[in-house]
Amino acid sequence: MRRIYMDANATTPLLPEVFDAMRPFWMEHFGNASSIHQQGQFARAAVDHARDSMARLLHCRTSEIVFTSGGTESDNLALFGTLQQEPTAAPAHLITTGIEHHAVLHAAESLEKKIGALSHKGALSHNQALSQGIEVTFLPCTPQGLIEPATLQAAIRPNTRLVSIMFANNETGVLQPILELAAIAHAAGALFHTDAVQAAGKLPLDLSPNGPLKDVDLLTLSGHKIYAPKGIGVLFVRRNVRLAPMLHGGTHERQRRAGTENVAGIVGLGKAAELAHTWLQTDGPDKLTTLRDRLEQGILTQVEESGVNGAGAPRVSNTTNLYFDHVEAEALVIALDLKGLSVSGGSACQSGATEPSHVLTAMGLTPARARASIRFSLSKLTTEEEVDEALALIPAAVARLRDLSPTWRRPEAITV
Ligand code: PLP
Repeated sequence: MRRIYMDANATTPLLPEVFDAMRPFWMEHFGNASSIHQQGQFARAAVDHARDSMARLLHCRTSEIVFTSGGTESDNLALFGTLQQEPTAAPAHLITTGIEHHAVLHAAESLEKKIGALSHKGALSHNQALSQGIEVTFLPCTPQGLIEPATLQAAIRPNTRLVSIMFANNETGVLQPILELAAIAHAAGALFHTDAVQAAGKLPLDLSPNGPLKDVDLLTLSGHKIYAPKGIGVLFVRRNVRLAPMLHGGTHERQRRAGTENVAGIVGLGKAAELAHTWLQTDGPDKLTTLRDRLEQGILTQVEESGVNGAGAPRVSNTTNLYFDHVEAEALVIALDLKGLSVSGGSACQSGATEPSHVLTAMGLTPARARASIRFSLSKLTTEEEVDEALALIPAAVARLRDLSPTWRRPEAITV
């Protein structure tokens, strides 16, 4: 059976050009980039080249790129690295949102817990405990999934040190007004971090000192969402931003991330950045939007009692999150999987959990509607034929599940 992949927000396929660029660095060019000999120099040159490519994609300096093991590590490094510096008299304040990926949400919760946990254990004096604990505010979103600038403004405190708000949501694709949000953080003297894992490669990101994203101090990106491998990522750290390392060891990455470089992964990410940079200058993003809209409209016109979560808000080109009332998303994901279509209910990182999505419930969906929601995320390899094949499968799968649902109004022939 030919499979159709519509789960690119979970992970993207590795592009052949990316694999070809990486292969020699597992084989003949296996050197450690820190070694002085020729194999080492070859690896170092490849890492430098990849850093150049990434800096071109992000319009930043090469010294502002820190290679990490992925989006989760970059998010943790941004939060812990800026907030857990030397103790201060007053606890630092972090503002983030209730709709972040768990890589930010759980890192923030961990920073927040330290106040109670440490003072309770009596391990530190009360003052020391306070100085290491972080106050955290989780901002609410609108029903469209947007964080309003006024909501951020109202949450700012004199001790706000970091604001962390995602660029594009992984479940709905909704884009936040990052320029305005970052400007508010800066005006208050706070740093601004954005998790751009679902935005990078899908829209232009210009972090140059006078560019649109000039108020963004830290930005997270993950390799396996831009057609590079899993286990490699970037944290952009703007010049002059002080960052305490989380990993202690060698002086790699200008002492911001110790550990022998994942040379093949970095080379793959560099190649993916080059390809993304070129793709963004073509009509690729528009074509992807057209395909996504074709899928979305096709479903909405064929399936009654369905709708788009985040409708009307700006969204990334590849994502649509739809609810199908009276259907369990998990059952629909399995039914479509059996027909050869890969999609996701909630975020992939939570699959198996029966809790409704924290993002959709934060947007005000009832738990039932959140549990009836499916994410379709196309890749730049998705074709029109695949969209049409998916459109031929989805209405029938929904209808079959609704026929089994106790809450669905059945045709009279069945109910008598
Ligand atoms: N942030 C967002 C918005 C994501 O979608 C993901 C992965 O799904 C991550 C962070 C984590 O990235 P990684 O899988 O590279 O650790």
